[in-house]
Amino acid sequence: MNKNYIDGKWVDALSGQTFPSINPATGSVIAELPKSDAADVDRAVAAAERAFDSWRKTPAPKRGEILFKAGQLLLERKEQLARKMTEEMGKVLAETRGDVQEAIDMTYYMAGEGRRLLGEVRPSELQDKACFAMRDPVGVVAAITPWNFPMAIPSWKIMPALIAGNTVVFKPASDTPLLGCAMVEILEEAGVPAGVINLVHGSGDVAGHALANHPKVSLVSFTGSTAAGRNIAVDAAGALKRVSLELGGKNAILVLEDADLDLAVDGIVWSAFGTTGQRCTAASRIIAQRPAVEALTEKLLARTEKLRLGNGLDPSTDVGPLINQARRESVHEYVHVGRQEGAQLLTGGEPGSGAGFFYEPTIFANVGPEMRIAQEEIFGPVTAIIPVTSLEQAVQVNNHTAYGLSTSIYTHDVQKAFRAMRDISTGLVYINAGTIGAEIHFPFGGTRGTGNGHREGGDAALDVFTEWKTCYVDYSGRLQKAQIDV
Ligand code: NAP
Repeated sequence: MNKNYIDGKWVDALSGQTFPSINPATGSVIAELPKSDAADVDRAVAAAERAFDSWRKTPAPKRGEILFKAGQLLLERKEQLARKMTEEMGKVLAETRGDVQEAIDMTYYMAGEGRRLLGEVRPSELQDKACFAMRDPVGVVAAITPWNFPMAIPSWKIMPALIAGNTVVFKPASDTPLLGCAMVEILEEAGVPAGVINLVHGSGDVAGHALANHPKVSLVSFTGSTAAGRNIAVDAAGALKRVSLELGGKNAILVLEDADLDLAVDGIVWSAFGTTGQRCTAASRIIAQRPAVEALTEKLLARTEKLRLGNGLDPSTDVGPLINQARRESVHEYVHVGRQEGAQLLTGGEPGSGAGFFYEPTIFANVGPEMRIAQEEIFGPVTAIIPVTSLEQAVQVNNHTAYGLSTSIYTHDVQKAFRAMRDISTGLVYINAGTIGAEIHFPFGGTRGTGNGHREGGDAALDVFTEWKTCYVDYSGRLQKAQIDV
């Protein structure tokens, strides 16, 4: 149903306006969706507010049963959803299947939380007194998501929010609205009551802004660009609203002189060019120790030049299109910047042919750590080889950007691997694997400009989507004073 979903009903925008969803591999319009504004957001938030009391009182195991059913539906429709995702977003089928699988994993994981939602029980310092802390829902949650993981990222927000007893208003990215609809259709079919999950399509500037700023929204869970995240944080500060931000990255693969270079090249190709480089964890820097640079570059170049650009539905395609023309222009502009800065363009650097938004996988060599292409998030199939002399310098260069999401290091030296894990200051570290590969039951997120200290995934997600409530039960029958009756 290509509409908004408010209070259990599929509806158009009140204004009647629509916007198109476009297949990035062909440039053709595949659907029209409601172009919502503040009035639609108001209706959705009001529905979520009305549904909150009943949903928070629904026993968590019952909420879990509904999520379990949603997980089953996702699993049954995995192939169909993956194809729809490739059509709407462009990445190759193997990756869209992975995206749906991540949503399945998260949904089952959070369904299980329905029988756990662990609190804390600790002894009291006083006699005849019990103390425990439990998790309460926060209220109405705004889930605002990007287009690069159109099912996985919404699931990272919606499933923990729902299992904890919150109600949700979900605004998917304007580039992937159909996958937003598919997710909500499944939740509706699984039995999520009216008003508990609501869906509002529309632009970030209008619908997203109205949602993030709505006074009845208690928590904004946002994944997207650092620029938009900063605006949301500033707006929310006035209302002392809780805001969880998962933002950009400038991730690196460190290749030491003792590394298995073939293994490293496997990791680099996957991490730099998978999802056409449009991942928050994409490896856009290769920080290589000088003795390894020449052989690594040769092997990487040979592999990259064999990559086939094309429609992600074609099984022979390795790299799909970028999401839209604006993204392609931005990537091309960075290639221009890299050339002007004096980096050596080894391969790529041009838009692909055809009607879609293709861009050639691109490698720069002799990149200085301070160059803009080594500092700013490009979010496209562009990676930069930065030569260094030692592990210490590699780590220093790695840590010296405005972002702090993911780092990988290739080495066989266990001492160096452990020193790297100690000194690398990103939220994710991989040893002998690329910068991509997070699993849903562990904390996910980053330092510095990648976020504001929260983590999604695993138990950490519950800290975002719940308030702690500590209860003290005094059964002594007399006044007891903590810290005073010692
Ligand atoms: P974006 O432009 O910031 O958009 C993300 C979402 O926010 C979209 O739904 C967008 O709506 C909405 N939005 C934009 N401005 C807003 C505002 N002022 N108020 C409220 N909502 C607003 O980011 P993107 O281009 O979709 O995604 C790419 C970025 O996401 C990259 O920087 C990437 O690193 C980051 N990302 C981070 C993670 C992570 O976990 N750290 C994961 C994936 C992606 P529209 O679609 O209508 O613009």
